[in-house]
Amino acid sequence: MSLQDIQARIHIAEENAGRPKGSAKLIAVSKVQPNERVEAVLEEGHRCFGENRVQEAVGKWPDFAMRYSDLDLHLIGPLQSNKARQAMELFQSIHTLDRPKLAKALARLAQELGHCPKLFVQVNTGEEPQKAGIPPREADAFIRECQDMDLIIEGLMCIPPADEEPSLHFSLLGKIAVRNGLSGLSMGMSGDFETAVALGATHVRVGSAIFGARAYEL
Ligand SMILES: *Cc1c(COP(=O)(O)O)cnc(C)c1O
Repeated sequence: MSLQDIQARIHIAEENAGRPKGSAKLIAVSKVQPNERVEAVLEEGHRCFGENRVQEAVGKWPDFAMRYSDLDLHLIGPLQSNKARQAMELFQSIHTLDRPKLAKALARLAQELGHCPKLFVQVNTGEEPQKAGIPPREADAFIRECQDMDLIIEGLMCIPPADEEPSLHFSLLGKIAVRNGLSGLSMGMSGDFETAVALGATHVRVGSAIFGARAYEL
């Protein structure tokens, strides 16, 4: 599939859901992909990309930024507090705010740097022990805690369990967002982005369907 194909499928899903065209943003997940493939997508005019490791992103995006303006970079993988500064300097959005210690680090840096990326709280909707994210029942309190630190929370993010119906998880994420007055929903990947758009995703994170299979998994 090409970028154009995926974008077209998103537009159809938006239309079917009675949503305005462009209301679900396509984040092209470029982690691990060779630079030539990423560059091809940049050449098509796409500017919105997702990475899941700070180190990897810092190694490739500053170079691209010299040649392509208006990049919109999203961190979609785990963030250690000691990499928070680098992440805040590179990314326009961080989708993986999932614990008080990280919230405190981001709040402190936001003061110091005078700016803050858009923030999404990651919710572990499947309550999987190996997965990052705040448990659903603790989400409301954590969101409030972040807001009390003057962090602006754009929305919520989830990665449903691989072997479960994703729509249940997308619906749950949507409910938590609504009751907390949040408008952003980062959900949906290569296999389920149309379902996510139907259930209100404002950001879908699509990697392999655009770039082809990754040479290795992280
Ligand atoms: C890798 C990754 C994606 C993209 O996955 P694909 O199945 O290749 O579309 C989306 N979200 C997160 C958090 C990821 O780590």
